[in-house]
Amino acid sequence: MRTITRRQFIHRSSLLAAGTALAGCSDSSNSPGSAKHAIVIGSGFGGSVAALRLAEAGIPVTVLERGRHWQSESANLLAGSNGVAPDNTRPLSPVQGEPDPPRNTGLLETIVGETVSVQCGSCIGGGSLVYGGVLIQPRRESFNRVLPDISYDDMDNIYYPRVLRQIGAAPIPDDVLRSPTYESHRVFIADSERAGFEVFRPHTSFDWDIVRREINGEIAPQVSIGDYAISGNIPAKRSTDKNYLRAAVQSGRAEVRDLTEVEMIRELPTGYAVVCCRLTAAGDVLERYEMQCTHLFLAAGSMNSSKLLQKSQLAGELKGGNDRVGHGWGTNGDQLVANFTAVPVAGPQGGPACIASIDRARPDYPITSMHSPAPFPGQLQMLMSTPDELGRLDYDPVNDKTRILWSHDGATSSALARRDSFQRLLAASGGRELNLPAFLRDTIWHPLGGTVMGDACDNLGQLYGYRNLYVVDGSLLPGSAGAANPALTVAANAERIMAVLAPRL
Ligand SMILES: Cc1cc2nc3c(=O)[nH]c(=O)nc-3n(C[C@H](O)[C@H](O)[C@H](O)COP(=O)(O)OP(=O)(O)OC[C@H]3O[C@@H](n4cnc5c(N)ncnc54)[C@H](O)[C@@H]3O)c2cc1C
Repeated sequence: MRTITRRQFIHRSSLLAAGTALAGCSDSSNSPGSAKHAIVIGSGFGGSVAALRLAEAGIPVTVLERGRHWQSESANLLAGSNGVAPDNTRPLSPVQGEPDPPRNTGLLETIVGETVSVQCGSCIGGGSLVYGGVLIQPRRESFNRVLPDISYDDMDNIYYPRVLRQIGAAPIPDDVLRSPTYESHRVFIADSERAGFEVFRPHTSFDWDIVRREINGEIAPQVSIGDYAISGNIPAKRSTDKNYLRAAVQSGRAEVRDLTEVEMIRELPTGYAVVCCRLTAAGDVLERYEMQCTHLFLAAGSMNSSKLLQKSQLAGELKGGNDRVGHGWGTNGDQLVANFTAVPVAGPQGGPACIASIDRARPDYPITSMHSPAPFPGQLQMLMSTPDELGRLDYDPVNDKTRILWSHDGATSSALARRDSFQRLLAASGGRELNLPAFLRDTIWHPLGGTVMGDACDNLGQLYGYRNLYVVDGSLLPGSAGAANPALTVAANAERIMAVLAPRL
């Protein structure tokens, strides 16, 4: 490995080459003359927020992202029904014990565990590109249960609205909900109300005008026929590359480097060095180099921020000895369920997931059901609760992999409350449960924790044992976002942290 200077390495990422929305990246972030320079590892929700707020505070920042910048292609996962996203040779249904698929930067990373497997975004925009677009704000009681030291009032009044504004999020409008392909949502509303659940329309990061144009036949249908998650960078989805990252780059103080994987973090007297691996889109290594910064922000997501920290500590490159890294990891109390309602919905189901309900039959375990358009004539819902048991992530240096140590929460009070809630929904719908295939049953999309606030770091994400080393992603939440999809809370928590940190740096 070699260390290269700025002059030797002016790696104009493909963002620039392609002249895309993020074009205009500035090299000033790596200028030797800058006293302060921040590096953000990862360009998902936490990383995008951090990049923009650092740039706005006048701090040159470089975002290092292992994945590619997807343009406007669609992987057509659902609409095409071919089951595998093109360019993503990491299969969607990996099997424990089978050899790893060939490396590819693709869209998603799949981490196979013994009790659960995890999928997370692996591209510019991270989870905001592959996700379902649901931006749910957790209710006060559930939030306080998982994050008792963070002011819900501040989140409610300042930080949740700040994220929704920046993304341009909105709930589904009435006219779209009335249109033919949204019948499954209307059936879910009726069933939930019959079951006594409180129905609501969460914000989504979708441009409803584009969806409306699809419905009116002005453009080809995509979101309105259910192709809304795990797609390429579809025009209707307001992923963070189109708002936070674009604004950061437009400020002239942020550079975003795609296909740049960070492999190691090293402590320096003046800050940190990160070992970067520059990849081709197929995942082949082009070169390795080091970059230095005064302030380092980890935003590689719950699975990878912990991995980088544990790996660097184990290698002796980070010497703070924080042994709480990896702890407090969980699955957000999630469970995916499917229901063949008495009157099955015919035809494609419009996306994104945009109707939810809360069941408060057990006040200690409110259950949120997020209705997700299904690629079959039934109902698909993500049930979310506050989990009773958390697990931990453990780095395995022999295989350079993260082990997920988590006992399946099949019999906890939280799991029983989910089952009970679903049974009441089934009874109200007159339907019957559909057994999901194992890869859907045993895979989760909302991993959280690993560097939990108040445990591995303080409430500003500052990692105990280190100076100027911060975590700003989903790793900070203790295995749960409070019976809600996590992205909005991950981003709002990053906003809360950056509102304090950025002016201080
Ligand atoms: C299919 C799917 C659907 C989902 N649907 C929803 C939904 O509708 N609503 C919701 O709230 N949540 C949803 N989620 C979860 C949501 O995407 C995550 O909670 C959220 O993205 C977490 O944000 P983050 O900033 O912690 O990490 P991420 O958004 O995952 O970002 C981490 C980034 O770091 C990059 N990275 C990782 N390691 C390295 C490295 N070593 N070097 C450089 N870069 C690195 C990754 O490629 C990624 O871009 C979904 C997730 C998936 C996979």
